[in-house]
Amino acid sequence: MDNVRIKILLADDDEDDYFITRELLSEILIWKSELDWVKTYDEALNAIHTKQYDVYLFDYRFGSDKNTGLDLLHEVIARDCKSPVIILTGQGDYRVDTEAIRTGASDYLIKEQITSYLLEKSIRHAIERKRAEEATTSAKNYTEYLVTCSLDMIVAANLNLEITEFNPAAEKVFGYTKSEILGKSIHILFASSIESQKVIEKILKGKTFSGEINKKKKDGQIFSSFLSASILQDIHKKEIGIVGILRDITERNHLIDQLRYNAFHDPLTSLPNRNLFMERLERLIEHAKRNKNSLFSVLFLDLDRFKTINDSLGHLSGDKLLILIAKKLKECLRKADTVSRFGGDEFAILLDGVDDAFNAKFVAERILEDLKNPFLVNGHRIVISASIGIVLKGELYHSPEDILRDADTVMYQAKTLGKARYAIFNREMHDTAMNFLQLENDLRHAIERSELELYYQPIVSLTNTEIVAVEALARWQHPQRGLLLPDQFIPLAEETRVIDNIGYWVIQNACTQNKLWHDMGFSNITVTVNISVIQFEHKELPKQIGTIIKNTGLPADAFELEITESSVMENKGVILEIFKELNKMKIHLMMDDFGIGFSSINSLKHLPFSTLKIDRSLILDIDTNSDATAIVKSIIDMAHSLKIKVVAEGVETQGQLELLRSYRCDYIQGYLLYSPMKAEEITNLLRQKNKQRSDIKNSITSEFTPLRGEKGHTRGHDFCNK
Ligand code: C2E
Ligand code: MG
Ligand code: MG
Repeated sequence: MDNVRIKILLADDDEDDYFITRELLSEILIWKSELDWVKTYDEALNAIHTKQYDVYLFDYRFGSDKNTGLDLLHEVIARDCKSPVIILTGQGDYRVDTEAIRTGASDYLIKEQITSYLLEKSIRHAIERKRAEEATTSAKNYTEYLVTCSLDMIVAANLNLEITEFNPAAEKVFGYTKSEILGKSIHILFASSIESQKVIEKILKGKTFSGEINKKKKDGQIFSSFLSASILQDIHKKEIGIVGILRDITERNHLIDQLRYNAFHDPLTSLPNRNLFMERLERLIEHAKRNKNSLFSVLFLDLDRFKTINDSLGHLSGDKLLILIAKKLKECLRKADTVSRFGGDEFAILLDGVDDAFNAKFVAERILEDLKNPFLVNGHRIVISASIGIVLKGELYHSPEDILRDADTVMYQAKTLGKARYAIFNREMHDTAMNFLQLENDLRHAIERSELELYYQPIVSLTNTEIVAVEALARWQHPQRGLLLPDQFIPLAEETRVIDNIGYWVIQNACTQNKLWHDMGFSNITVTVNISVIQFEHKELPKQIGTIIKNTGLPADAFELEITESSVMENKGVILEIFKELNKMKIHLMMDDFGIGFSSINSLKHLPFSTLKIDRSLILDIDTNSDATAIVKSIIDMAHSLKIKVVAEGVETQGQLELLRSYRCDYIQGYLLYSPMKAEEITNLLRQKNKQRSDIKNSITSEFTPLRGEKGHTRGHDFCNK
């Protein structure tokens, strides 16, 4: 109260008293004051209205006026005036004193006893007390506000466990009104009396409780709540009850359940997804380690031709079909089994308690049989089959991934065996799979370890017996397995995409080698390189080839790409763009293995091939099978009509050669003439042929005597429309 000026109103009908009071106040040094004086009750009322005073000093009596200072005190309170009131009287009157204090007066002073010291203390204390009261009131209001507006439920009870507080949030959730629940036992809010007993006992022991607990609404409905509760104490630390804050977590739990469900289920079919399947598999493997009777098998199922159906009917129909298939699979299985969708058209099935071939086969057969019934999707009858791989004795495995790897391997085997069937995994397959894995790893390092090598197989002109081209064929000198042929590693390289690097290496080496031959004077030689369809997925391919050709200095038309018929036909759209680019760069294209696919020769009209190579399976039969003869002949004729040159590959007999020549086939390739050989051998061969040419001038025979002792011509016909 230092340095403040306290405004005081004195209501007293006695002027002397005013002077005395003023005198006494002037003697106070601690704080300054400003004293206003009113004489009558009415004047006092008016002054109270202004609410401008910090303290009121009211005389108890106003002369003959029947209203007293206590009436003024009532007025102050009624007007919600917070300033303290001190009642003054002529004589001490215990009754008035008590009444004044009870009514709310801050003090009661007897005029005769008032000293400056007493007055100062009384006013100061009155003001301090009022301030403290105000602080308490606002804290109380604040608490009340929080309790009322809290979104959390707040419930309190006394030590008899009778409810004493029940906020609006609690009213809303529980369905009780505050007035009807106050005084009732707290136990009625709990879903289980055993649980409520436990929780309350714990709280009463002075411990707090926080955790999930089920509660019961007025209508009997149970809901999950999160409760934080503790003992309630008064300001003297005396225990007076318990209080709890609750939150309805039904919605939250719902959400968590939903999230958990989504994380473990396939959204389309609602079947367990891969995660859940793997988790169950893992649990079964763990269980089997401790329990000898735990047996299970896994079926891995992949739909046949699903992509074609999906592409032709549209994705929505594809989705509907998958939903129907999921339903059918569930119907084929017992409740204890798990069928899960791994995504796409792959499903995995866990047969609990089954580890023998008889029962697993039975399930697989039933699935295959049931799938034979057509599915009706958007008015279309769709017939679909599946290939199933079975892994028995899952309990012997160490990890779910291993089981699935084997199930996948054997499913692929079922697919390659002709689809719509099942196959059971066995130990040999496991070894093959492991072998494959090892080979894959080795293949990744084959280039950097210089284990790859190119062999070259000559392609010879049938008109003049000249070697016009050589086909580069990859070989892998494996440190442990010896020399591996392309069929033993190219498919693997394609599957693992190592083919990109290998392909690049082959082109680079074939071009460098051919440039060397050109520099040696064999400038008519073209090198052909087989190219995998996977390599065409890179739009960069033409640019890459362009750079290699430029760097090696080889003429672009001394390089040709061989692409198999099947890969061209399956990927026409994508490949065509790249073909056009290659054509612009003057790089020739040859269609390899022609005649075993389904493309008609007419389809070649729209493709920029300059040569086609008839597959060796057709050549093999031409001198024995009239159909093959007719096919080969017509291929040659039609190709010529399109100005496309023809190579026959796999020529092994003189008979085949004669026939091909009579059909005017342009070039031949095969063991009858030359097998694939190392680059040095080709160099020697070319040199030898050159020498022969200069030795036997003008001795062109019509008789073709290939391989060794071959009679050459001066200059060969350039390969492929050069
Ligand atoms: P392809 O392009 O059809 O190559 C011809 C295959 O037939 C070669 O087998 C060759 O050795 C073999 N062959 C040649 N003459 C005869 C014969 O008179 N009779 C028989 N039965 N076979 C003969 P290779 O070298 O084992 O190659 C197999 C396949 O591997 C090739 O078939 C080609 O598609 C692929 N390939 C080879 N090298 C590469 C390469 O660098 N990249 C890619 N992507 N594929 C390659
Ligand atoms: Mg080839
Ligand atoms: Mg071929």
